[in-house]
Amino acid sequence: MSIAKSLTDVVKLKGAVSSLVLRASKDLVCTNLWCEKVTGPCVCRLERTLQKIDVSGLKHLDLSGNRLTELPPSVRGLTALREIDLSDNDFASVPGELAGLSLACILEGNPCSPSPMPTKPESS
Ligand SMILES: [Zn+2]
Repeated sequence: MSIAKSLTDVVKLKGAVSSLVLRASKDLVCTNLWCEKVTGPCVCRLERTLQKIDVSGLKHLDLSGNRLTELPPSVRGLTALREIDLSDNDFASVPGELAGLSLACILEGNPCSPSPMPTKPESS
């Protein structure tokens, strides 16, 4: 079991990863011309990888800093997952995909997370 830092790593390691770190990753910027989110933040490539590769041993998933608004549906199947880091994304609410999963979810820096500092002058 090892740490993958890209979806290419996941494929190379044949899914034998305990940690997948996609912090501000270009793997989460869409390059699929058939996808409505092309050139923007998108999880379609991650979803395809999760469908193709067995990552059932994955315990830690870091998707922070990607401006994501949704999770790939296949996250539901990651039964070994214990922690998911979604900090600094664009989730307006806690993703429904996480309902029923017992894991720690970090949502700092998302619209749905109450900010500890009330005067934060950034709204892009
Ligand atoms: Zn896409």
